[in-house]
Amino acid sequence: MLKGKTALVTGSTSGIGLGLAKALAAQGANIVMNGFGEVDAAVAQVKALGVPVSYHGADMSKPAEIEAMVRHAEATFGGVDILVNNAGIQHVARVENFPPERWDAVIAINLSSAFHASRFALPGMQARNWGRILNIASVHGLVASAEKSAYVAAKHGLVGLTKVTALENATSGVTCNAICPGWVLTPLVQKQVDAKAAALGINNEEAKRQLLAEKEPSLQFTTPEELGALAVFLCSQAADNVRGVAWNMDGGWAAQ
Ligand code: NAD
Repeated sequence: MLKGKTALVTGSTSGIGLGLAKALAAQGANIVMNGFGEVDAAVAQVKALGVPVSYHGADMSKPAEIEAMVRHAEATFGGVDILVNNAGIQHVARVENFPPERWDAVIAINLSSAFHASRFALPGMQARNWGRILNIASVHGLVASAEKSAYVAAKHGLVGLTKVTALENATSGVTCNAICPGWVLTPLVQKQVDAKAAALGINNEEAKRQLLAEKEPSLQFTTPEELGALAVFLCSQAADNVRGVAWNMDGGWAAQ
């Protein structure tokens, strides 16, 4: 379905981003990957799906590096047709204890990076009159939890950016939508599971059960594969008129 298109997925060396890169690769898209950590292993997983893959190590807190990443994608594959703004970090603390430098980092990586990547990728999409921007927000783009001020502010902001980008391109073939997952068992969430286990003196399984029970009525984690299927739908022709939505896949979390 996506053969000939190029997808740039930020933060795709791990977790949800890697799942989304694999789902788009399975549809035939060329993939530009980004992120830190186990880069070679992640790139190999996507390459194994038989599509051309390139990698750029831009730090998503740095606008000049974000521009270089978009230009790298354009130079390698001729353009960015699908931009998935996925890179993200978390920090958990009450407002009065929240380290200002962690606030700045969460806002930069989870929100401002999407603005910068979008502003660099949009002119090419507009010139070709086709594009998809998928902003990976969170159920925390729709509702709040205590001790996540920067994350909740960034994700609510990302949902707002999604709506504005969708409106500005509404008469064109360029769409912009947000995906809002509930709990997904990635390294980002495993850290929160570990913190709960340590704080309560419980084991990993019990900490996961309690984490789900607090927020997610289905008592099940959403998977990167499920999110990948939603992303593929939003990139399809059937989604040509889906514009500016914040689509939660959260086991009923935001329905409460
Ligand atoms: P993860 O920690 O598994 O992956 C994060 C990715 O972002 C990694 O590839 C990492 O290298 C990359 N990254 C981090 N800082 C970066 C930077 N400065 N520059 C470039 N890349 C950077 O996390 P995840 O759970 O897969 O989260 C992915 C996205 O999904 C995030 O935006 C997160 O907020 C969102 N999300 C996650 C959950 C969840 O339950 N896991 C729920 C809702 C939304």
